[in-house]
Amino acid sequence: MESYRGARTALIVGAGMAGLTAASAMARRGWQVEVAEIGPAGATAGWGLCLTGPSLRALDELGLADLCLAAGYGMSVITQVDVDGGLAAEVRLPRLIGAERPAMVGMARPALYRTLREQADRCGVVVHHGLTAAAVDQEGEQVRVQMSDGTVRRVALLVGADGIRSSVRRLLGLETSVEYHGQMVWRALVPRPPWATGIHQFAGKVNTAGLVPISDSQAYVFLTENGVERSVLPDVELMPRLWQLLETFPGRVEEVRSLVTGPTSVVRRPVLTAFLDGAWNRGTGVVIGDAAHAPAPQMASGAALAIEDGAVLAQELDRHTSIGAGLDAFVSRRAQRCRTLVETSVAIADLEQAQRHAEAYPLVDACHRQMAEPA
Ligand SMILES: Cc1cc2nc3c(=O)[nH]c(=O)nc-3n(C[C@H](O)[C@H](O)[C@H](O)COP(=O)(O)OP(=O)(O)OC[C@H]3O[C@@H](n4cnc5c(N)ncnc54)[C@H](O)[C@@H]3O)c2cc1C
Repeated sequence: MESYRGARTALIVGAGMAGLTAASAMARRGWQVEVAEIGPAGATAGWGLCLTGPSLRALDELGLADLCLAAGYGMSVITQVDVDGGLAAEVRLPRLIGAERPAMVGMARPALYRTLREQADRCGVVVHHGLTAAAVDQEGEQVRVQMSDGTVRRVALLVGADGIRSSVRRLLGLETSVEYHGQMVWRALVPRPPWATGIHQFAGKVNTAGLVPISDSQAYVFLTENGVERSVLPDVELMPRLWQLLETFPGRVEEVRSLVTGPTSVVRRPVLTAFLDGAWNRGTGVVIGDAAHAPAPQMASGAALAIEDGAVLAQELDRHTSIGAGLDAFVSRRAQRCRTLVETSVAIADLEQAQRHAEAYPLVDACHRQMAEPA
C-alpha cells in the first residue's frame, strides 16, 4: 500500500514530546501529518518531570500552557541546600509567559503526554502505534519511507523524533555517539509535603537528591548516584537501594525518604547525552528533540528543547518556499542553543561528581537565563 502524495505531507517517527509538538504545530499550519510510534498507546512511564520556562513558552504558542499548569504544579524557585543542610542558593527563574503565571511546572509524564496527544488529535494528526520506519530513500523532492508493516509512505518531509537512540538518524546517515557520564538517576513518586512549593535540591557527601512537586497531592524524589557503572537492577532491589542512598542525607531528605513506600513508583536510568555535530537534516529528512541533542537531566531542559524544536520547525517551514531551505534555517536557528544546553548540563554533571556544588549553582542560574532568550 502506498499513500500520501503532496507538497505539505509529513511523516513523523516518534510520538514523544518533540514528535507530538511538531505534529500539532505543523498540522495547525495546514500540513497533513502522520505519526508512527513504535510503542503501544498509553505506555509512558509514571514518574514526573519539570517543564521550565522555555517549555511553557513553546506550549503557550500551541495553546497548551494553561492546560499543563492546571494538570501539574506551578513553581518559580529552585532552592539549593548545601551538604550541611544550610541554604546555598535560591534561583528565581524568569517568568516567560507573564508575571501572573509561574516560571515552570512540575508534571506527571502521563499527564503531559495526554495533553500533547489530545492536541494532536484535535489538529487532525493521525497517530499509529506499533509502527516505525524501516528504510528511507530520497526520490526527488519526496522521501519514500518503507514502514515496518510493509506499507510505504511518500511524503514531502520525514521527521525523526524517535529519541536519543534514533533509528531515523541512522537511516538518514547522520551518526553521533551516545555518552554515559558515570551517573544513574533515580525518581520515585511520593505524596507532596506541604513545604514543597518549588524545586528543592540537596547536595550530599557523594550524591545529590531533591524533590519536585507535580500536583497538589504528588511530588517526585530525585537522586543522582555518582561514580557508578551503568547497570540495570532487578525491580525488587530498587526501593531498598534508594532508601539506602537517601539515608546519607540529613534534614528534609530524611522526611522525604520515609514517603518512598511503593517499589512500583521507583525508576532508575543512566545519564546519557548526545549531540549531533553538523547537519541534522539530509534531503527532506530531519531529526529533532533528543534524536539531535540529548542533555543530561541536571538542567531539567531536555523537554524544553524538544518542545521548542517542534514549534520552531513549523515556523521555519512556513517562512521558506522550499522544505530544504526551511530545514537549513531550522538547524541553524537551533544548533548553538541546543549545544550550549547539552554542554552546560554535562559540565554540571561533572561538577556534581567532583563535589564542586558551589561552582555548579551559578552555572545553572546563568544557563536558565540564557535559555530564557527567545528560542
Ligand atoms: C531520568 C530523566 C529525567 C528527565 N527529567 C527531565 C525534566 O525534568 N525536564 C526536562 O525538560 N527534561 C527531562 N529529561 C529529558 C527529557 O525526558 C527528554 O529530553 C525528552 O523526553 C525528549 O523528548 P523527545 O520527544 O525528543 O524524545 P523521547 O521522549 O525519547 O520520545 C521519543 C519517542 O519515540 C519513540 N520511538 C523510539 N524509537 C522509535 C522508533 N524506532 N520508531 C518509532 N518510534 C520510536 C519512543 O517510544 C518515544 O515515544 C529527563 C530525562 C531523563 C532520562
